[in-house]
Amino acid sequence: MQKLNLCIDIDGTVTEPFYWLNRANKFFGKQVKPEDVSVYEIHRVLDIAEDDYNEFYNLYGQLLHKEAEARFGASEVLKRLYDHHNIHFVTAREGVMKDVSVAWLEKHEMPMDSIWLLGSHYKVDQARELKSDLFIEDNYSNALQLAKAGFDVLLIDCSYNKGNLPHNVTRVKNWFQIKTLVEIRAQRNELDFKIAL
Ligand SMILES: [Mg+2]
Repeated sequence: MQKLNLCIDIDGTVTEPFYWLNRANKFFGKQVKPEDVSVYEIHRVLDIAEDDYNEFYNLYGQLLHKEAEARFGASEVLKRLYDHHNIHFVTAREGVMKDVSVAWLEKHEMPMDSIWLLGSHYKVDQARELKSDLFIEDNYSNALQLAKAGFDVLLIDCSYNKGNLPHNVTRVKNWFQIKTLVEIRAQRNELDFKIAL
């Protein structure tokens, strides 16, 4: 099997996607349910100003990231994949969230080779630097941007990332399906490699 470079987003990808919702509802006096979340930007979900959301995030961000639940199967699958592949976490979180992010990944037994906190949703340059073979995401516009730059993406299906996908983005239901697709990709790369010899 060929060793792949797997780039993996954190929020909504290895974390459960709606972990911020309870505290945000309480803080803003809202009653938004997971099934109401049809867009990625939380301030639009809550129908509040972006600045107000940022104020909430400044107060509670560390705590939210600390207490987030993991997605079902993520740790189990990543531990298996780590035996054969490189795992790089690539998140839009700010650098100030590094300690809480690393502690969370350790606590939830998610192995990794590196973590990159970009402070921006633009992930193309980092994908290039890491020579990404597969990028695992939950953000629709990130997926499209990465695909346009030539990267293959697995998009975890969510209420907020519906929409048409280009040929190099595959919508997946869960981490067990991701494991299967990574293994197929590694075998295909090895075949291509042998054919090229
Ligand atoms: Mg995400």
